[in-house]
Amino acid sequence: MLALDDIDFDDARVYAIPMTTRFRGITVREGMLLRGPAGWGEFCPFPEYDDRVAASWLATAVEQCVVGWPEPVRDHIAVNCTVPAVSPDRAREIAAASDCGTAKIKIADHPDSLTEDLARVESVRDALGPSGAIRVDVNGAWDVDTAITAIRLLDKAAGGLEYVEQPCATIEELAAVRRAVDVRIAADESIRRADDPMRVAVAGAADVAVIKCTPLGGVRRALRIADAAGLPCVVSSALETSVGLGAQVALAAALPRLDFACGLGTTSLLRDDVVAEPIRPVAGYLPVRRRPPEPDPGRLARVEQTDPERVAWWRDRLSRARAELKSTPETEQW
Ligand SMILES: [Mg+2]
Repeated sequence: MLALDDIDFDDARVYAIPMTTRFRGITVREGMLLRGPAGWGEFCPFPEYDDRVAASWLATAVEQCVVGWPEPVRDHIAVNCTVPAVSPDRAREIAAASDCGTAKIKIADHPDSLTEDLARVESVRDALGPSGAIRVDVNGAWDVDTAITAIRLLDKAAGGLEYVEQPCATIEELAAVRRAVDVRIAADESIRRADDPMRVAVAGAADVAVIKCTPLGGVRRALRIADAAGLPCVVSSALETSVGLGAQVALAAALPRLDFACGLGTTSLLRDDVVAEPIRPVAGYLPVRRRPPEPDPGRLARVEQTDPERVAWWRDRLSRARAELKSTPETEQW
């Protein structure tokens, strides 16, 4: 019998939560919560994803609410603060207020941004002090030559960068940049499917893999993928509510090695949550919970999607993802 059959799909709830900042072009985060024998799971693939991709997100939810997570090997997870493309003064404030020892700074927000990027990086260093770690995220914006020049300057301005995330779009470009600079390269957008970490590792394209268990089909599957790739991993969220974020924290908690702070302090990007005590960092760390957080009925009622068209859209999508997952039972290998 499939784990899927343990879920009452008619019982699934659709939520819609406004975001504090526009992200990936969306201003409202939507998804579904499913209840199973082990607790609750979250199904929240982004709207443009096809059914095959959505089936992997469903596999993560099923692991969470039917199978449960593997044992953690640590009880708290260091997280980074995120500094958007803001002025140097604002960047200093954000980093100082975060209580995090690691800052991820968004750069290359627009062409010719380098002067602003350098100033932002300098003020974050100022806020964190010499012991803080600074990483920058380029979201694939540069070509190889731009990356090589900019990374050297940014590394100097930062007094040492921890790593540069996705400086260029393709794996081949990442590999070329990595050969030319002394700063670690992290692959993020290059890792979206199960075989991507392996491709990145084989190409020598990165020193660090940014992984998200939600699109990879669950905590156990992400652990196997991380192990096969053989790269140090940073776990990053997929903008889940605290229910789905719990799975990401479970992955970070179960990785045999965790050398870097994770990008899991993201519930603050949502204006509300479905649980009474959202997963929020305290002094730069998230506590590890062994079971998925339970939605709070009052909160859930407050964020429940009331537009019948959107509810029907999600229900239809869930049943298609379920059929897709059912047709590939080998993916049920938690
Ligand atoms: Mg990134």
